[in-house]
Amino acid sequence: MSKSPKHVPTAREQAFLDRVDNPRYERGMINGLAPFFDERAPQDMLGFYSPAEIDALRELKNTDRDVEARMPVKITRHYFDLARRSRPIQHIVKASPEETQDLAGSEDPGFQMDYSPVEGLLHKYEMGLMYVTSTCSAHCRFCYREELIGRKEIERQDGTVAKKGLAQISEITSYIRSHNERVAANGGLHPESGREKLREMLLSGGDPLILSNSKIAAWLAALAEVDIESIRIGTKEMAFFPQRFDDAFLAMLDGFHATYPQVGLRLMLHFNHPDEFLAKDDKGHYIEDASGFLQWVPATERAMRGLVSRGWISIENQAPIIKNVNDDPVALRIMQRAIKRVGAENHYFFCGRDIVAHRAFNVPIETAWNILNESQKGLSGVENHARLSITHYRGKTEVCAVTEGPIPGLAGSEGGVVIFKILRNAASAPHRGKVCIVGRNPEAIWFDGYEDRVLFDEAGLFDYSRVTVPGVEAQEAS
Ligand code: SF4
Repeated sequence: MSKSPKHVPTAREQAFLDRVDNPRYERGMINGLAPFFDERAPQDMLGFYSPAEIDALRELKNTDRDVEARMPVKITRHYFDLARRSRPIQHIVKASPEETQDLAGSEDPGFQMDYSPVEGLLHKYEMGLMYVTSTCSAHCRFCYREELIGRKEIERQDGTVAKKGLAQISEITSYIRSHNERVAANGGLHPESGREKLREMLLSGGDPLILSNSKIAAWLAALAEVDIESIRIGTKEMAFFPQRFDDAFLAMLDGFHATYPQVGLRLMLHFNHPDEFLAKDDKGHYIEDASGFLQWVPATERAMRGLVSRGWISIENQAPIIKNVNDDPVALRIMQRAIKRVGAENHYFFCGRDIVAHRAFNVPIETAWNILNESQKGLSGVENHARLSITHYRGKTEVCAVTEGPIPGLAGSEGGVVIFKILRNAASAPHRGKVCIVGRNPEAIWFDGYEDRVLFDEAGLFDYSRVTVPGVEAQEAS
Protein backbone atom coordinates (compact mmCIF):
# COMPACT_ATOMS: atom_id res chain seq x y z
CA MET A 1 0.00 0.00 0.00
CA SER A 2 1.42 3.42 -0.91
CA LYS A 3 2.12 5.74 1.98
CA SER A 4 -0.27 8.68 2.16
CA PRO A 5 1.29 12.15 2.04
CA LYS A 6 2.30 13.72 5.33
CA HIS A 7 -0.32 15.94 6.94
CA VAL A 8 0.49 19.63 6.42
CA PRO A 9 -0.97 21.82 9.18
CA THR A 10 -2.82 25.01 8.28
CA ALA A 11 -1.48 28.32 9.63
CA ARG A 12 -4.16 28.20 12.35
CA GLU A 13 -3.18 24.67 13.39
CA GLN A 14 0.49 25.52 13.39
CA ALA A 15 0.00 28.61 15.56
CA PHE A 16 -1.77 26.42 18.14
CA LEU A 17 0.82 23.63 17.93
CA ASP A 18 3.70 26.09 18.36
CA ARG A 19 2.45 26.96 21.85
CA VAL A 20 2.29 23.37 23.17
CA ASP A 21 4.73 22.26 25.90
CA ASN A 22 5.93 18.69 26.30
CA PRO A 23 7.21 17.96 29.79
CA ARG A 24 8.78 14.56 30.49
CA TYR A 25 6.72 12.31 32.73
CA GLU A 26 8.28 9.87 35.17
CA ARG A 27 5.66 7.17 35.61
CA GLY A 28 8.03 4.65 37.21
CA MET A 29 6.60 1.98 34.92
CA ILE A 30 7.53 -1.67 35.37
CA ASN A 31 7.27 -3.49 32.06
CA GLY A 32 6.66 -7.22 31.97
CA LEU A 33 7.17 -9.98 34.51
CA ALA A 34 10.94 -10.25 33.95
CA PRO A 35 11.77 -7.48 36.50
CA PHE A 36 9.82 -9.54 39.07
CA PHE A 37 11.31 -12.88 37.95
CA ASP A 38 14.92 -11.70 38.20
CA GLU A 39 14.29 -9.21 41.04
CA ARG A 40 15.27 -6.10 39.08
CA ALA A 41 12.06 -4.29 40.09
CA PRO A 42 12.45 -1.76 42.94
CA GLN A 43 12.84 -3.57 46.25
CA ASP A 44 9.50 -2.42 47.69
CA MET A 45 7.64 -3.66 44.57
CA LEU A 46 9.04 -7.18 44.61
CA GLY A 47 6.45 -8.37 47.11
CA PHE A 48 3.68 -7.57 44.60
CA TYR A 49 3.90 -11.22 43.53
CA SER A 50 4.45 -13.92 46.17
CA PRO A 51 7.22 -16.49 45.52
CA ALA A 52 4.54 -19.09 44.75
CA GLU A 53 2.87 -16.76 42.24
CA ILE A 54 6.21 -16.04 40.58
CA ASP A 55 6.96 -19.76 40.28
CA ALA A 56 3.55 -20.50 38.77
CA LEU A 57 3.89 -17.67 36.21
CA ARG A 58 7.46 -18.61 35.37
CA GLU A 59 6.39 -22.18 34.66
CA LEU A 60 3.94 -20.96 32.02
CA LYS A 61 6.56 -18.84 30.23
CA ASN A 62 6.90 -19.77 26.54
CA THR A 63 4.08 -22.31 26.72
CA ASP A 64 0.68 -21.89 25.09
CA ARG A 65 -0.53 -20.66 28.49
CA ASP A 66 2.03 -17.84 28.75
CA VAL A 67 0.07 -14.97 30.35
CA GLU A 68 2.28 -12.29 28.84
CA ALA A 69 1.78 -13.65 25.33
CA ARG A 70 -1.96 -13.16 25.83
CA MET A 71 -1.66 -9.68 27.36
CA PRO A 72 1.57 -7.77 28.17
CA VAL A 73 2.10 -6.90 31.85
CA LYS A 74 2.69 -3.30 32.95
CA ILE A 75 2.17 -1.12 36.03
CA THR A 76 2.99 2.45 37.10
CA ARG A 77 4.41 3.44 40.48
CA HIS A 78 1.24 5.45 41.28
CA TYR A 79 -1.00 2.48 40.56
CA PHE A 80 1.26 0.11 42.47
CA ASP A 81 0.95 2.39 45.53
CA LEU A 82 -2.85 2.24 45.26
CA ALA A 83 -2.77 -1.54 44.70
CA ARG A 84 -0.88 -2.13 47.93
CA ARG A 85 -4.08 -1.38 49.83
CA SER A 86 -6.57 -2.83 47.40
CA ARG A 87 -7.30 -6.38 46.28
CA PRO A 88 -9.62 -5.17 43.47
CA ILE A 89 -6.83 -3.01 42.01
CA GLN A 90 -4.40 -5.90 42.25
CA HIS A 91 -6.83 -7.97 40.20
CA ILE A 92 -6.83 -5.29 37.49
CA VAL A 93 -3.08 -5.37 36.81
CA LYS A 94 -1.66 -8.50 38.39
CA ALA A 95 -1.05 -11.39 36.02
CA SER A 96 -2.46 -14.75 37.13
CA PRO A 97 -2.24 -18.30 35.73
CA GLU A 98 -6.06 -18.41 35.80
CA GLU A 99 -6.10 -16.03 32.82
CA THR A 100 -4.97 -18.67 30.40
CA GLN A 101 -6.84 -21.68 31.79
CA ASP A 102 -9.61 -21.27 29.22
CA LEU A 103 -8.57 -19.41 26.10
CA ALA A 104 -11.99 -19.49 24.44
CA GLY A 105 -13.00 -16.19 22.89
CA SER A 106 -12.67 -13.96 19.86
CA GLU A 107 -9.43 -12.40 18.57
CA ASP A 108 -11.53 -9.61 17.08
CA PRO A 109 -14.48 -9.07 19.45
CA GLY A 110 -17.45 -7.57 17.65
CA PHE A 111 -15.73 -8.22 14.30
CA GLN A 112 -14.33 -4.72 14.66
CA MET A 113 -12.19 -5.10 11.57
CA ASP A 114 -15.35 -5.41 9.46
CA TYR A 115 -15.84 -1.72 10.21
CA SER A 116 -12.33 -0.56 9.36
CA PRO A 117 -12.24 1.24 6.01
CA VAL A 118 -8.82 2.78 6.79
CA GLU A 119 -6.06 1.26 8.93
CA GLY A 120 -6.48 2.30 12.56
CA LEU A 121 -10.06 3.57 12.10
CA LEU A 122 -13.33 1.92 13.11
CA HIS A 123 -16.29 3.59 11.48
CA LYS A 124 -19.52 2.08 12.69
CA TYR A 125 -21.75 4.89 13.81
CA GLU A 126 -21.75 8.66 13.26
CA MET A 127 -18.66 8.43 15.43
CA GLY A 128 -15.29 7.09 14.33
CA LEU A 129 -12.84 5.43 16.71
CA MET A 130 -9.11 5.61 16.08
CA TYR A 131 -6.26 3.55 17.44
CA VAL A 132 -3.63 6.27 17.98
CA THR A 133 -1.31 4.16 20.12
CA SER A 134 -1.03 0.50 21.06
CA THR A 135 -0.08 0.78 24.71
CA CYS A 136 -1.12 2.31 28.05
CA SER A 137 0.94 3.27 31.07
CA ALA A 138 -0.36 0.14 32.86
CA HIS A 139 -2.25 -2.80 31.41
CA CYS A 140 -5.58 -4.17 32.64
CA ARG A 141 -5.64 -7.95 32.49
CA PHE A 142 -9.24 -7.87 31.20
CA CYS A 143 -8.51 -5.41 28.38
CA TYR A 144 -10.68 -5.98 25.33
CA ARG A 145 -7.98 -4.55 23.09
CA GLU A 146 -5.53 -7.29 24.07
CA GLU A 147 -5.01 -8.11 20.39
CA LEU A 148 -3.84 -4.53 19.71
CA ILE A 149 -1.75 -4.18 22.86
CA GLY A 150 -0.28 -7.69 22.43
CA ARG A 151 0.40 -6.85 18.73
CA LYS A 152 -1.37 -10.02 17.58
CA GLU A 153 -2.17 -10.95 14.02
CA ILE A 154 -5.87 -10.69 13.20
CA GLU A 155 -7.65 -12.29 10.29
CA ARG A 156 -9.60 -9.74 8.27
CA GLN A 157 -12.76 -10.52 6.36
CA ASP A 158 -10.85 -10.70 3.06
CA GLY A 159 -8.71 -13.48 4.53
CA THR A 160 -5.54 -11.41 5.01
CA VAL A 161 -3.82 -11.72 8.37
CA ALA A 162 -2.03 -8.75 9.92
CA LYS A 163 -1.51 -6.85 13.13
CA LYS A 164 -3.87 -3.96 13.74
CA GLY A 165 -2.25 -0.79 12.47
CA LEU A 166 -2.37 2.67 13.99
CA ALA A 167 -4.26 5.63 12.58
CA GLN A 168 -2.35 8.27 10.60
CA ILE A 169 -3.59 11.86 10.57
CA SER A 170 -3.45 12.36 6.80
CA GLU A 171 -5.31 9.12 5.99
CA ILE A 172 -7.99 9.74 8.61
CA THR A 173 -8.65 13.35 7.65
CA SER A 174 -8.82 12.43 3.93
CA TYR A 175 -11.32 9.69 4.75
CA ILE A 176 -13.47 12.05 6.87
CA ARG A 177 -13.42 14.73 4.18
CA SER A 178 -14.37 12.33 1.43
CA HIS A 179 -17.06 10.54 3.49
CA ASN A 180 -18.67 13.80 4.58
CA GLU A 181 -18.60 15.25 1.05
CA ARG A 182 -20.43 12.20 -0.29
CA VAL A 183 -22.96 12.39 2.57
CA ALA A 184 -23.60 16.09 1.87
CA ALA A 185 -23.97 15.48 -1.88
CA ASN A 186 -26.48 12.70 -1.18
CA GLY A 187 -28.87 14.64 1.05
CA GLY A 188 -27.46 13.59 4.44
CA LEU A 189 -26.80 9.86 4.06
CA HIS A 190 -23.88 8.08 2.44
CA PRO A 191 -25.06 6.54 -0.87
CA GLU A 192 -23.54 3.10 -0.17
CA SER A 193 -23.36 2.58 3.59
CA GLY A 194 -26.39 4.69 4.56
CA ARG A 195 -24.36 6.36 7.28
CA GLU A 196 -24.67 9.95 8.38
CA LYS A 197 -21.91 12.53 8.50
CA LEU A 198 -18.90 11.59 10.63
CA ARG A 199 -19.26 14.24 13.28
CA GLU A 200 -17.62 12.79 16.38
CA MET A 201 -14.18 11.13 16.64
CA LEU A 202 -12.70 9.15 19.52
CA LEU A 203 -8.97 9.02 20.16
CA SER A 204 -8.40 5.59 21.57
CA GLY A 205 -5.90 2.75 21.55
CA GLY A 206 -4.17 1.94 23.95
CA ASP A 207 -4.30 5.18 25.86
CA PRO A 208 -3.83 8.46 23.94
CA LEU A 209 -2.49 10.10 27.13
CA ILE A 210 0.66 8.02 26.71
CA LEU A 211 1.44 10.31 23.74
CA SER A 212 3.11 13.70 24.10
CA ASN A 213 0.97 16.83 24.33
CA SER A 214 2.14 17.81 20.84
CA LYS A 215 0.93 14.54 19.32
CA ILE A 216 -2.45 14.79 21.05
CA ALA A 217 -2.69 18.44 20.00
CA ALA A 218 -1.89 17.50 16.38
CA TRP A 219 -4.80 15.04 16.35
CA LEU A 220 -7.21 17.53 17.96
CA ALA A 221 -6.34 20.33 15.54
CA ALA A 222 -6.38 18.14 12.43
CA LEU A 223 -9.83 16.79 13.33
CA ALA A 224 -11.11 20.28 14.08
CA GLU A 225 -9.86 21.45 10.66
CA VAL A 226 -12.08 18.87 8.94
CA ASP A 227 -15.08 20.15 10.90
CA ILE A 228 -15.47 17.34 13.41
CA GLU A 229 -18.09 18.60 15.88
CA SER A 230 -16.79 16.87 18.93
CA ILE A 231 -13.72 14.89 19.92
CA ARG A 232 -13.47 12.25 22.61
CA ILE A 233 -10.34 11.05 24.31
CA GLY A 234 -10.65 7.64 25.96
CA THR A 235 -8.20 7.28 28.84
CA LYS A 236 -7.46 5.36 32.03
CA GLU A 237 -4.58 7.66 32.87
CA MET A 238 -6.64 9.35 35.60
CA ALA A 239 -6.31 6.04 37.47
CA PHE A 240 -2.82 4.99 36.36
CA PHE A 241 -0.99 8.34 36.47
CA PRO A 242 -3.16 11.37 37.33
CA GLN A 243 -0.06 13.59 37.34
CA ARG A 244 -0.36 13.46 33.52
CA PHE A 245 -3.22 16.02 33.77
CA ASP A 246 -0.79 18.79 34.70
CA ASP A 247 -0.65 22.49 33.83
CA ALA A 248 1.06 21.80 30.50
CA PHE A 249 -1.67 19.39 29.43
CA LEU A 250 -4.45 21.73 30.60
CA ALA A 251 -2.76 24.65 28.83
CA MET A 252 -2.74 22.59 25.62
CA LEU A 253 -6.48 21.95 26.01
CA ASP A 254 -7.06 25.66 26.72
CA GLY A 255 -5.09 26.54 23.59
CA PHE A 256 -7.19 24.12 21.57
CA HIS A 257 -10.43 25.57 22.92
CA ALA A 258 -9.27 29.14 22.24
CA THR A 259 -8.40 28.17 18.64
CA TYR A 260 -11.43 25.97 17.95
CA PRO A 261 -14.14 27.09 20.42
CA GLN A 262 -16.89 25.46 18.36
CA VAL A 263 -15.52 21.92 18.84
CA GLY A 264 -16.77 19.90 21.83
CA LEU A 265 -14.26 17.94 23.88
CA ARG A 266 -15.16 14.85 25.92
CA LEU A 267 -12.80 12.99 28.20
CA MET A 268 -13.97 9.42 28.67
CA LEU A 269 -12.39 8.23 31.90
CA HIS A 270 -12.11 4.64 33.03
CA PHE A 271 -12.38 4.13 36.77
CA ASN A 272 -13.40 0.58 37.67
CA HIS A 273 -13.38 0.92 41.43
CA PRO A 274 -13.35 3.74 44.04
CA ASP A 275 -10.02 2.40 45.35
CA GLU A 276 -8.51 3.95 42.21
CA PHE A 277 -9.21 7.48 43.43
CA LEU A 278 -10.34 7.58 47.09
CA ALA A 279 -7.74 8.00 49.84
CA LYS A 280 -7.40 5.19 52.37
CA ASP A 281 -5.90 5.03 55.85
CA ASP A 282 -3.41 2.42 57.06
CA LYS A 283 -6.24 0.04 57.91
CA GLY A 284 -7.58 0.24 54.37
CA HIS A 285 -10.64 2.37 55.23
CA TYR A 286 -11.68 5.35 53.13
CA ILE A 287 -10.74 8.62 54.81
CA GLU A 288 -13.59 11.02 55.61
CA ASP A 289 -13.33 14.76 56.24
CA ALA A 290 -15.07 16.52 59.14
CA SER A 291 -18.34 16.59 57.17
CA GLY A 292 -18.21 12.88 56.40
CA PHE A 293 -17.22 13.32 52.74
CA LEU A 294 -14.84 10.73 51.34
CA GLN A 295 -11.45 12.18 50.51
CA TRP A 296 -9.87 11.76 47.09
CA VAL A 297 -6.24 10.84 46.50
CA PRO A 298 -4.73 14.38 46.32
CA ALA A 299 -3.10 13.99 42.87
CA THR A 300 -6.31 12.58 41.40
CA GLU A 301 -8.49 15.25 42.97
CA ARG A 302 -6.21 17.97 41.61
CA ALA A 303 -6.39 16.46 38.15
CA MET A 304 -10.18 16.06 38.24
CA ARG A 305 -10.70 19.63 39.49
CA GLY A 306 -8.48 20.91 36.69
CA LEU A 307 -10.71 19.26 34.12
CA VAL A 308 -14.16 19.86 35.59
CA SER A 309 -13.41 23.55 36.20
CA ARG A 310 -13.31 23.90 32.41
CA GLY A 311 -17.03 23.77 31.70
CA TRP A 312 -16.50 23.23 27.97
CA ILE A 313 -15.00 19.79 28.58
CA SER A 314 -17.39 17.02 29.49
CA ILE A 315 -15.98 14.33 31.75
CA GLU A 316 -17.63 10.92 31.66
CA ASN A 317 -16.69 7.67 33.34
CA GLN A 318 -17.31 4.25 31.83
CA ALA A 319 -16.09 0.84 32.90
CA PRO A 320 -16.74 -2.86 32.52
CA ILE A 321 -18.00 -4.89 35.48
CA ILE A 322 -15.25 -7.45 36.09
CA LYS A 323 -15.08 -10.48 38.34
CA ASN A 324 -13.16 -9.84 41.60
CA VAL A 325 -12.67 -6.20 40.61
CA ASN A 326 -15.97 -4.35 40.81
CA ASP A 327 -18.68 -7.02 40.97
CA ASP A 328 -19.63 -5.28 44.18
CA PRO A 329 -22.74 -3.05 44.50
CA VAL A 330 -21.39 -1.20 47.54
CA ALA A 331 -18.18 -0.22 45.74
CA LEU A 332 -20.09 0.84 42.62
CA ARG A 333 -22.51 2.93 44.69
CA ILE A 334 -19.60 4.73 46.37
CA MET A 335 -17.95 5.25 43.00
CA GLN A 336 -21.01 6.69 41.26
CA ARG A 337 -21.66 9.12 44.13
CA ALA A 338 -18.07 10.27 44.33
CA ILE A 339 -17.72 10.77 40.58
CA LYS A 340 -20.91 12.84 40.39
CA ARG A 341 -19.95 14.87 43.48
CA VAL A 342 -16.70 16.01 41.88
CA GLY A 343 -18.60 17.15 38.78
CA ALA A 344 -18.15 14.27 36.32
CA GLU A 345 -20.80 11.94 34.87
CA ASN A 346 -21.35 8.21 35.11
CA HIS A 347 -21.88 7.12 31.51
CA TYR A 348 -21.86 3.35 30.90
CA PHE A 349 -21.05 0.18 32.72
CA PHE A 350 -20.27 -2.68 30.36
CA CYS A 351 -20.66 -6.41 30.41
CA GLY A 352 -17.26 -7.90 29.59
CA ARG A 353 -16.74 -8.72 25.91
CA ASP A 354 -16.03 -12.13 24.40
CA ILE A 355 -12.28 -11.58 24.23
CA VAL A 356 -9.84 -14.47 24.37
CA ALA A 357 -10.00 -15.85 27.96
CA HIS A 358 -13.13 -13.85 28.79
CA ARG A 359 -14.34 -16.50 31.23
CA ALA A 360 -11.57 -15.45 33.63
CA PHE A 361 -12.95 -11.91 33.81
CA ASN A 362 -16.61 -11.70 32.87
CA VAL A 363 -19.45 -12.00 35.34
CA PRO A 364 -22.73 -13.39 34.01
CA ILE A 365 -24.91 -10.83 32.26
CA GLU A 366 -27.76 -11.15 34.75
CA THR A 367 -25.36 -10.86 37.69
CA ALA A 368 -23.89 -7.68 36.19
CA TRP A 369 -27.38 -6.22 35.81
CA ASN A 370 -28.23 -7.09 39.41
CA ILE A 371 -24.98 -5.58 40.71
CA LEU A 372 -25.57 -2.31 38.90
CA ASN A 373 -29.24 -2.23 39.88
CA GLU A 374 -28.39 -2.87 43.53
CA SER A 375 -25.65 -0.22 43.41
CA GLN A 376 -28.12 2.38 42.16
CA LYS A 377 -30.69 1.81 44.91
CA GLY A 378 -30.70 4.96 46.98
CA LEU A 379 -28.75 7.02 44.46
CA SER A 380 -30.37 10.24 43.33
CA GLY A 381 -31.61 10.63 39.76
CA VAL A 382 -28.52 12.54 38.71
CA GLU A 383 -26.20 10.02 40.30
CA ASN A 384 -27.77 6.95 38.70
CA HIS A 385 -27.52 7.88 35.01
CA ALA A 386 -25.25 4.96 34.07
CA ARG A 387 -26.73 2.12 32.03
CA LEU A 388 -25.49 -1.41 31.57
CA SER A 389 -24.35 -1.95 28.01
CA ILE A 390 -23.25 -5.06 26.18
CA THR A 391 -21.66 -4.69 22.78
CA HIS A 392 -23.43 -6.96 20.34
CA TYR A 393 -22.12 -7.37 16.79
CA ARG A 394 -25.19 -5.43 15.74
CA GLY A 395 -24.39 -2.41 17.93
CA LYS A 396 -24.34 -1.11 21.46
CA THR A 397 -27.13 -2.82 23.39
CA GLU A 398 -28.57 -2.08 26.82
CA VAL A 399 -29.40 -4.79 29.33
CA CYS A 400 -32.61 -3.02 30.38
CA ALA A 401 -34.22 -5.40 32.84
CA VAL A 402 -34.11 -8.84 34.40
CA THR A 403 -37.42 -10.04 35.85
CA GLU A 404 -37.77 -12.30 38.85
CA GLY A 405 -40.92 -14.00 37.63
CA PRO A 406 -42.66 -14.92 34.36
CA ILE A 407 -44.53 -12.62 32.00
CA PRO A 408 -48.13 -13.89 32.09
CA GLY A 409 -49.06 -15.56 28.81
CA LEU A 410 -45.50 -15.68 27.47
CA ALA A 411 -44.38 -19.29 27.10
CA GLY A 412 -40.72 -19.77 27.96
CA SER A 413 -40.69 -16.92 30.48
CA GLU A 414 -41.42 -19.15 33.47
CA GLY A 415 -38.02 -18.52 35.08
CA GLY A 416 -38.11 -14.79 34.32
CA VAL A 417 -36.78 -12.87 31.31
CA VAL A 418 -33.95 -10.56 30.28
CA ILE A 419 -34.81 -7.56 28.12
CA PHE A 420 -32.19 -6.11 25.78
CA LYS A 421 -32.59 -2.90 23.78
CA ILE A 422 -30.41 -1.62 20.94
CA LEU A 423 -28.93 1.78 21.84
CA ARG A 424 -26.66 2.33 18.87
CA ASN A 425 -26.64 0.62 15.55
CA ALA A 426 -24.41 0.94 12.51
CA ALA A 427 -25.27 3.08 9.51
CA SER A 428 -28.42 5.17 10.09
CA ALA A 429 -29.28 3.20 13.25
CA PRO A 430 -32.37 1.42 11.83
CA HIS A 431 -32.69 -0.84 14.87
CA ARG A 432 -32.23 1.78 17.61
CA GLY A 433 -34.89 1.26 20.29
CA LYS A 434 -35.78 -2.29 19.23
CA VAL A 435 -35.86 -4.92 21.94
CA CYS A 436 -35.12 -8.57 22.38
CA ILE A 437 -36.58 -10.72 25.18
CA VAL A 438 -34.97 -13.99 26.21
CA GLY A 439 -35.72 -16.51 28.95
CA ARG A 440 -33.29 -16.19 31.85
CA ASN A 441 -30.03 -18.10 32.07
CA PRO A 442 -28.13 -16.94 35.17
CA GLU A 443 -24.96 -18.60 33.85
CA ALA A 444 -24.89 -16.76 30.50
CA ILE A 445 -21.84 -14.56 30.06
CA TRP A 446 -22.45 -13.87 26.38
CA PHE A 447 -25.36 -13.90 23.94
CA ASP A 448 -24.71 -17.52 22.99
CA GLY A 449 -25.98 -18.46 26.45
CA TYR A 450 -29.47 -17.42 25.33
CA GLU A 451 -29.56 -18.95 21.86
CA ASP A 452 -31.99 -21.70 22.91
CA ARG A 453 -34.41 -19.37 24.74
CA VAL A 454 -35.18 -16.41 22.49
CA LEU A 455 -38.79 -15.33 23.06
CA PHE A 456 -39.08 -12.14 21.05
CA ASP A 457 -36.40 -10.56 18.87
CA GLU A 458 -37.40 -7.49 16.89
CA ALA A 459 -33.81 -6.27 17.46
CA GLY A 460 -32.40 -9.17 15.45
CA LEU A 461 -29.75 -10.01 18.05
CA PHE A 462 -30.08 -13.71 17.26
CA ASP A 463 -30.59 -13.34 13.52
CA TYR A 464 -27.41 -11.67 12.43
CA SER A 465 -24.57 -12.24 10.02
CA ARG A 466 -21.38 -10.27 9.45
CA VAL A 467 -21.29 -7.17 7.30
CA THR A 468 -20.04 -7.69 3.76
CA VAL A 469 -19.48 -4.14 2.54
CA PRO A 470 -17.78 -2.21 5.38
CA GLY A 471 -20.56 -0.83 7.52
CA VAL A 472 -23.50 -2.35 5.65
CA GLU A 473 -25.33 -5.13 7.42
CA ALA A 474 -25.62 -8.25 5.30
CA GLN A 475 -28.98 -9.36 6.60
CA GLU A 476 -31.56 -6.98 7.85
CA ALA A 477 -33.84 -8.51 10.43
CA SER A 478 -37.47 -8.08 9.53
S1 SF4 B 1 -6.44 1.16 29.95
FE1 SF4 B 1 -7.95 0.43 28.48
S2 SF4 B 1 -6.80 -0.02 26.63
FE2 SF4 B 1 -5.32 0.14 28.33
S3 SF4 B 1 -5.07 -1.92 29.08
FE3 SF4 B 1 -6.69 -1.01 30.32
S4 SF4 B 1 -8.61 -1.55 29.27
FE4 SF4 B 1 -6.91 -1.90 27.82
